Amino acid sequence: MNYQKVEFTISAANASQFARDGIPQIAFAGKSNVGKSSVINRVLQRKKMAYVGNSPGKTIHINYFLVDDTAYLVDLPGYGYAKVSQSEKARWAKLMEDYFASGLITLGILIVDARHAPTGNDVTMARWFQDSGCPFVVVANKLDKLKKREIHPNLETIRTTLSLSDDTLLLPFSAEKGTGREELIARIEAAAASSQETKD
Ligand code: GDP
Repeated sequence: MNYQKVEFTISAANASQFARDGIPQIAFAGKSNVGKSSVINRVLQRKKMAYVGNSPGKTIHINYFLVDDTAYLVDLPGYGYAKVSQSEKARWAKLMEDYFASGLITLGILIVDARHAPTGNDVTMARWFQDSGCPFVVVANKLDKLKKREIHPNLETIRTTLSLSDDTLLLPFSAEKGTGREELIARIEAAAASSQETKD
């Protein structure tokens, strides 16, 4: 994958619209404003592929970006908006449950804020990924906003709060600066390649 060709292909509002073409799916989840769009754009080295600053309530879709005809980066709808109606929460939950139940996830990427302890919703989301049995990486974004001495204790808090196993990668990341991109890409490519092998 050289990220030369990136296409926005599908915006799925329900399970019948999920991509089921055998192409590996790398799923990105995170609370609103954590920088999920920015992380996806950083991976893609595009400024505006995933839309930064999406307005609350308009994002209950699963958006697929096809990279080099090889893998989808899947932008799951954000969570934790303060002002969301019950019906929108229910729509979010149904769409996410259907996606997690679909068995389509090749690699899960949960994005949390490096500055803060994970929220209750982050903990729930980590459990969904863990229970789905797919390989799973946690990205601690906005690292550039931390002082050096804060990095280690904050990562420890994140690891403990999310009950991450020792072999789960917790990757310090800055979508703004590009920190961590190489390692994240390596994980994405390894997951995409091994998913292709199991099919061959
Ligand atoms: P989303 O709602 O999770 O998709 O978040 P966005 O990608 O729209 O980012 C929310 C805000 O955080 C925007 O103002 C971004 O510029 C900012 N942001 C995202 N990633 C970083 C980062 O790594 N460092 C800093 N300093 N700001 C970031």
